Amino acid sequence: MKKIQVAIDGPASAGKSTVAKIVAKKLHFIYCDTGAMYRSVTFAALKNHVKLDDDQALKELLKTIQIRFVPAEPEQRVFVNDEEVTQAIRTPEITNNVSLVSAQPSVRAELTKRQQEIAEAGGIVMDGRDIGTTVLPNAEVKIFLVASVHERAVRRFKENQIKGIDTPLDVLEKEIEERDYKDSHREISPLIQAKDAVLVDTTSLTIDQVVDKILEIIDQKTN
Ligand code: C5P
Repeated sequence: MKKIQVAIDGPASAGKSTVAKIVAKKLHFIYCDTGAMYRSVTFAALKNHVKLDDDQALKELLKTIQIRFVPAEPEQRVFVNDEEVTQAIRTPEITNNVSLVSAQPSVRAELTKRQQEIAEAGGIVMDGRDIGTTVLPNAEVKIFLVASVHERAVRRFKENQIKGIDTPLDVLEKEIEERDYKDSHREISPLIQAKDAVLVDTTSLTIDQVVDKILEIIDQKTN
């Protein structure tokens, strides 16, 4: 398999990270979760009492933080400097604040640069919101993964139940709609489908079906 770049973008809870991880494993590629990077900056900002829309202060904060992924099973671990944040970046507090941080120009510029460095050598599956449009505009394969708001809320609800989080379904639907809106309407690198991305609707598909579909697309694009 050629060491290509695979970009997977789409709205919150469309299944990007679940399928991106499996696809990367099957191809022996690196997996990079760019959402985890924006979440890590949000975590560090809250911890250091930096205002979440203070672009200049976030720029300074970013100079002091290294975000690292460490391979592990069942999921890779995420570190901000020496502190493990794998679980801490998945709390509702981070989820509901991350869109504000990710809309700040300096944060986007710095994380885009770091993501491009990670992907430089190829052999990578990277998921996020702007990978196909901004971070890796020359990626050989671009996928835009979507699912209905209801289906995405149901998936989040089930994940939350396992974690013991009790947010009602209608609240989750509202949160997802709100995050979609903010991510799609920000000024810099909003969530949009790249012209050359293939749309995959996962609403009525199983994880295995989505993975097979993406592998098929990769096969078609690379042969
Ligand atoms: O994918 P995940 O839900 O973890 O992403 C968290 C947030 O990070 C998104 O809602 C979005 O605001 C931001 N994000 C982004 N660009 C990316 C990846 C994530 O703006 N490439």
